[in-house]
Amino acid sequence: VGNVSKAPGEFELIARLTAKLRQSDRTILGPGDDCAILKPSPGSQLVTIDSMVEDVHFKLGWGTPEGLGARALTVNLSDIAAMGVVPTACVINLAIRPGLGARFFDRLYKGLADAATAAGVDIVGGNVTSAGALAITIALIGETRQSALRRDAARCGDEIFVTGTLGDAAIGWRILAGELKARGLSRKFLIDRFQQPIARLVAGQRLARIDPAPAAIDISDGLLQDLGHVLKRSGAGAEIDSDAIPLSSAYLEVAGANIEFALSGGEDYELLFCLRPGRSETALTRRLGVPVKRIGQIVRGSGVTLIPKGGKASVKASRFAGWDQLRTRGA
Ligand SMILES: [Mg+2]
Repeated sequence: VGNVSKAPGEFELIARLTAKLRQSDRTILGPGDDCAILKPSPGSQLVTIDSMVEDVHFKLGWGTPEGLGARALTVNLSDIAAMGVVPTACVINLAIRPGLGARFFDRLYKGLADAATAAGVDIVGGNVTSAGALAITIALIGETRQSALRRDAARCGDEIFVTGTLGDAAIGWRILAGELKARGLSRKFLIDRFQQPIARLVAGQRLARIDPAPAAIDISDGLLQDLGHVLKRSGAGAEIDSDAIPLSSAYLEVAGANIEFALSGGEDYELLFCLRPGRSETALTRRLGVPVKRIGQIVRGSGVTLIPKGGKASVKASRFAGWDQLRTRGA
């Protein structure tokens, strides 16, 4: 539909934005034709797509255009990381609204291009369309010659691990929205965790070398919800030791013992994975190059049971609100 009513300004804009992009030799033909052409891949190819929409996922006043562009690619890269594969190429659709000038989009694309270069991804095509709200949609391709990390591979007895710390981004988001307060370095850390997430690409690729390939997912919608996806696809349940969930010192400073942001907050982009028992946190931390914590195990049944210290008064986790509801309410 966007093509039908495309104003000359939109053609100029997309030509200008894609002019400076550089391609690797895996791209035969980049932006400028009806399609891009990629060389055949020696392994399996994976495809994912995601959108970021103004006032749903971000507000313009919260950060720089470069940061927004980088973040838009990173959330896609995180899905590639969660499958344990190598990202290779992407196409980008920009929905633009009145009131944003060419300089804004130059900066947005600079952030996108820098993030793509850092991840070894070619931006092989783009489109610009007019819309009521600013939105960035990216379709990203990855490839692998080994087994991908799938959600349906968890088995009873598997131990559940997560990378990094959880809940920081959810708190950072609320600080920006004026719902929570923090000071100094903690404030900066928490906001950065929301605005500058890191896709755990290397950790995911190293996980994929473990045999059998672990079940994995990236935590984009909150621990409970994303673990729930793994459980549903694998036909199993989980017991989570609520005292084992890794929290940053900044998190503890703002939220204290309230683990709800770690359970239901979104946008962390850490990895959750399930391994046959017997691997230590220390060995996995060294192997993946990122802090790893064991938070529970896969059990028979369905759903998540939270077990606090001492093992009594366990709570069926369904009583916690998911990030979806929080996001709808907040933004
Ligand atoms: Mg995901």
